[in-house]
Amino acid sequence: MSDNQPKDFIRQIISHDIASGKHGGNVVTRFPPEPNGYLHVGHAKSICLNFGVARENNGKTFLRFDDTNPGKESEEFAKAIERDVRWLGFDWGDRLTHASDYFDQLYESAERLIAMGKAYVDSLSAEEIREYRGTLTKPGKDSPDRNRSVEDNMDLFRRMRAGEFEDGKHVLRAKIDMHSPNMNMRDPTLYRIRHIPHQRTGDKWCIYPMYDFAHGLSDAFEGVTHSLCTLEFEDHRPLYDWFIDQINPPHRPNQYEFSRLNLAYTVTSKRKLAKLVEDEIVSGWDDPRMPTLAGMRRRGYPPAALREFCRRIGVTKKENLIEMAALENCVREILDHAAPRRMAVIRPLKVILANYTEGQTEKLSALNHPNRPELGSRELPFGREIYIEQNDFMEDAPRKFFRLRPGGEVRLRYAYIIRCDEVIKDKSGKVVELHCSYDPDTRSGTGSSDRKVKGTIHWVCASHALAVEVRLYDRLFTVPDPAASDDVMEHLNPDSLETVTAQLEPSLGEVETDSLFQFERLGYFRPDDIDSTPDKPVFNRVATLRDSWAKIEKQALQQQAKSLRLR
Ligand code: ATP
Ligand code: MG
Repeated sequence: MSDNQPKDFIRQIISHDIASGKHGGNVVTRFPPEPNGYLHVGHAKSICLNFGVARENNGKTFLRFDDTNPGKESEEFAKAIERDVRWLGFDWGDRLTHASDYFDQLYESAERLIAMGKAYVDSLSAEEIREYRGTLTKPGKDSPDRNRSVEDNMDLFRRMRAGEFEDGKHVLRAKIDMHSPNMNMRDPTLYRIRHIPHQRTGDKWCIYPMYDFAHGLSDAFEGVTHSLCTLEFEDHRPLYDWFIDQINPPHRPNQYEFSRLNLAYTVTSKRKLAKLVEDEIVSGWDDPRMPTLAGMRRRGYPPAALREFCRRIGVTKKENLIEMAALENCVREILDHAAPRRMAVIRPLKVILANYTEGQTEKLSALNHPNRPELGSRELPFGREIYIEQNDFMEDAPRKFFRLRPGGEVRLRYAYIIRCDEVIKDKSGKVVELHCSYDPDTRSGTGSSDRKVKGTIHWVCASHALAVEVRLYDRLFTVPDPAASDDVMEHLNPDSLETVTAQLEPSLGEVETDSLFQFERLGYFRPDDIDSTPDKPVFNRVATLRDSWAKIEKQALQQQAKSLRLR
């Protein structure tokens, strides 16, 4: 374990177990995704925890697909999950397993429960079973089939397996306690009939085990020591233990629960994410706005940023909503160091330097990174026509606006000081061009004048600039907790994607697809994996330089406080 890793309650339990020799001092964990969707940032927390604690203690981690629901699951999802776990930086070695690998053993375990009188075949309909189950305030009722003989149960269960009955005709249930205050203990279903071929076992089975039954026993079969799951399984733990107690396998796993990761302004539920994909709100599971690992990879988040984020949020039993900014700050911290700087203008405004000789260009030198001299420098062409950012000019600028205004001066980064002499507008009054003059004595680094001005802005040379598609991403939702609403679609952010044609410095014409840049004063950008070609890049904005939402939220809160004071 790294020194700065605080010990959370799970790591404390594990240290304690190692010290006391429980599980022979071994640490074996598993990450058990259902292959019915792509992994999201919440799964990253679970992956970092499961693989992390094993790695820290020379243990092992299984990647086990919980594939007990044929029809909803697919190999495409399974492959995507493998790729994402690997991308996040974890390796399961030869421990890639499936709940379906244990279908034979699970079936045998079910027969053993029947033989012990601990399981019975119930022929009530699904609706009747629900009715008989009672509620949180009302105890359940025994099914008339609860006292079937072991022989009858065994015979019926074998015939269920042999395919003699249609879906829903019978189920196998554990015989525990219909009066238990814990609903999970009211004779839970162990097996149901489903005449659906399975993506791995084909037609071999027409009965499939339920998650609770399959999960704990699969843990036991694999020798898992610490089965780490999210808090919603806390009430399932007595059942988890009950199965282990009855079957009494050589290895006894223990389940521990921690709180889910909930990230503000997004959703971390595969079902809700699937809906965004199905309704074509996003371009796919790997849309760069999605909180999926595939989306974040395509957006350009470094996997180390996600690992660092998971380290910082820690592992507790307390439910909470984590600020998106916490994740973005991890991304920014890594990219600030890693990303070479470039110049790009995303909302161009043409500037003509009237006193610069027509047809002339010169080369100016620009540092690739302000704090990493080893990254060297590059040349920027400069000429009579340049682009600056529209919002770096303001006609009626407030006093503290240190960029360009009529009659005002600003420094062009790595170039000259310019003065705005004339503002050209179209018929509607929109500013379309600025006529400026440059001061030849103020060339960066070499100029004879040491004149200083307050503001420095970025620019590109119009005659050399590349017009390139740039995609600006923002939050998918407009409210911090969209999942709290009945219909998350109500809160979609209509501006979560804005596509602009930006003007880029010419060195960005030929870039590797996995390269990453800071466009000065704008943010971090990288070519899109899928839509970029070597001669026609498309850039994604990975992150802005600062958290613009923090400002918006702060303003909203201040506004609110002010109106409260006024009342
Ligand atoms: P979803 O609700 O998104 O469908 P799930 O729990 O059904 O998620 P699984 O594929 O079963 O998805 O999850 C695999 C593992 O990831 C489980 O152990 C689960 O507890 C964990 N997990 C899922 N979501 C989160 C989350 N938001 N935070 C932490 N762990 C999570
Ligand atoms: Mg689940």
